[in-house]
Amino acid sequence: MQTYRLMVTFNHLDGEMVALDGSFYQVKMDGVAYPVKARQQTPFAVVTQFDVDQDAVLPADLDYQGLQQKLDRLITNRNHFYAFRIPGRFRKMMVRSVPAQLPPYRPLAEVVKEQAVFHYEDTEGTLIGFYAPDYMQGLNVPGYHFHFLNRNRTRGGHVLDLQTGSGKIEIDEISEIVMSLPHSPTFATLELAQDQAKSLQQVEKK
Ligand SMILES: [Zn+2]
Repeated sequence: MQTYRLMVTFNHLDGEMVALDGSFYQVKMDGVAYPVKARQQTPFAVVTQFDVDQDAVLPADLDYQGLQQKLDRLITNRNHFYAFRIPGRFRKMMVRSVPAQLPPYRPLAEVVKEQAVFHYEDTEGTLIGFYAPDYMQGLNVPGYHFHFLNRNRTRGGHVLDLQTGSGKIEIDEISEIVMSLPHSPTFATLELAQDQAKSLQQVEKK
């Protein structure tokens, strides 16, 4: 079994964060992946120690939807979490990043209207992502969530669409999660019971 040091997707607000093999990057509005400084903080992150439990060949000519359908056939327990590491060559890659936010914070659905979208053709790199079960509604985005980092680790973002070329799908099945909550006064009084599912569904997709 192959083990990688670390793998991540984290989110939003002043960019899209992505980590691969223990290195963290922040993809800002210019589409550039900047190495994250040690003192930087984030309100939300999904991180795992990535072990390859299963792998498969990445079929050619899948769009993002087709890739998710392929992954649907590979994952066997829909109530577990999965992490994915998909190194390959992609014929097309459409990614976005979001602008920095200042208080008072607006809903993500509004922020995303100002997103910057980048289209790359014939690019090599790695898709990094997670599958979260439906019962995670409200805590995370149920279903698939992918970020991309190119081979030189200079550009990337939150995946909106793609077309596969060739590569490998590596899968880590996860049956245990640890959740850390913020200590900030803002978080202490936030109204979080309202159903965010619909607006999240909208902003995470094309
Ligand atoms: Zn994202």
